[in-house]
Amino acid sequence: MYNKKSIKDIDVKGKKVLVRCDFNVPLEDGRITDENRIIGALPTINYLIENGAKIILCSHMGKPKGEPKPELSLKPVADRIAELVDTKVTFAKDDNVVGENARREVEALKDGEIVILENTRYRKEETKNAEEFSKELSSLAEVFVNDAFGTAHRAHCSTVGVTEYLDTAVCGFLIEKELKFLGDAVENSQKPFVSILGGAKVSDKINVINNLIDKVDSLIIGGGMAYTFLKAQGFEIGKSLVESDKIDYAKEMLDKAEAKGVKILLPVDNITAAEFSKDADAVVTEDQNISADFMGLDIGPKTQKIYSDEIVNAKTVVWNGPMGVFEFEKFAAGTKNVAKALADSDAVTIIGGGDSAAAVNILGFGDKMTHISTGGGASLEFLEGKVLPGIDALNDK
Ligand code: AMP
Repeated sequence: MYNKKSIKDIDVKGKKVLVRCDFNVPLEDGRITDENRIIGALPTINYLIENGAKIILCSHMGKPKGEPKPELSLKPVADRIAELVDTKVTFAKDDNVVGENARREVEALKDGEIVILENTRYRKEETKNAEEFSKELSSLAEVFVNDAFGTAHRAHCSTVGVTEYLDTAVCGFLIEKELKFLGDAVENSQKPFVSILGGAKVSDKINVINNLIDKVDSLIIGGGMAYTFLKAQGFEIGKSLVESDKIDYAKEMLDKAEAKGVKILLPVDNITAAEFSKDADAVVTEDQNISADFMGLDIGPKTQKIYSDEIVNAKTVVWNGPMGVFEFEKFAAGTKNVAKALADSDAVTIIGGGDSAAAVNILGFGDKMTHISTGGGASLEFLEGKVLPGIDALNDK
């Protein structure tokens, strides 16, 4: 487990501090449509303001593929941050990110003021973790703070490369919080520890299953991936999503779980349809079996009840992946009821990023969870037990 220094462990007064944030917010006609990621960065930014750092913020946005794309400029983010903080904020509009403007504005910084750099992915070197851009970025600062959990699983110039040139490299409050909640849940969980996995494919979750099977008391499986497991148990699954090359793996996992005394919960009924459509008639099955012309698009009502009971009795719950095609109203009940069970439970509830985080927020249960991870890919890799390079590169305590 990580034991990394945070900004509270170092002196930032008067120092030039380069902060890697995750400002990868959705934009529509230059307007920010969801500012959660900006709000999530404020505790670190405000701490640095209050403690008199000279603050240089950087982030990527979207995929400009190594060249300037005006529609992916960080300017709207800089404007919004200027409204949210109580200090002077300037935007260094350099297409090469570390250019004349950035250097001049950084030199002019007074304690507690902010410069925001242009989209780091305007530079093609960024995603290659190439030396030149890492050196340029680090040359602006004396200290590096990584607070972008969403890109912590990527070794890029602005997440890893800069740490080669800046001896002091620590995490911000957002990463600290992610490490605490995800780390404690997985490595130090209060028992019973229940993990819920869903989403489309088994193949996307294999490494998570492999890692968690040694730690959990129960594993709840829903979503499209459940049908490969049901098929492995010999049930009829009709036209449901299935990965034929993963059936043996599913069998192996079921055997392994049994040998270890880990409970694997699979659907005992399904909500099915004749076609993959929001307007399709929803048909509930009697049991696990799905007839030839139908496909499973959600867990059934009996399953929802069994899963909810398991969640209510847990002390720690980690959830990644929806229980069905929650984007279609008729097939959202499974995901909704699992989210509700988490919201109602006293357990420590951790939601992996991506679709499950979106589902919980859309359903209005966001503030009922202990922690919703800000990183889809990063939280999945954390749950897989992988080393996240952007965190590994920071100073140990
Ligand atoms: P993932 O990105 O792997 O977490 O998968 C999320 C996607 O899985 C969502 O878009 C869901 O609509 C989809 N999904 C969940 N259950 C099913 C299912 N039974 N059949 C097809 N797709 C599903």
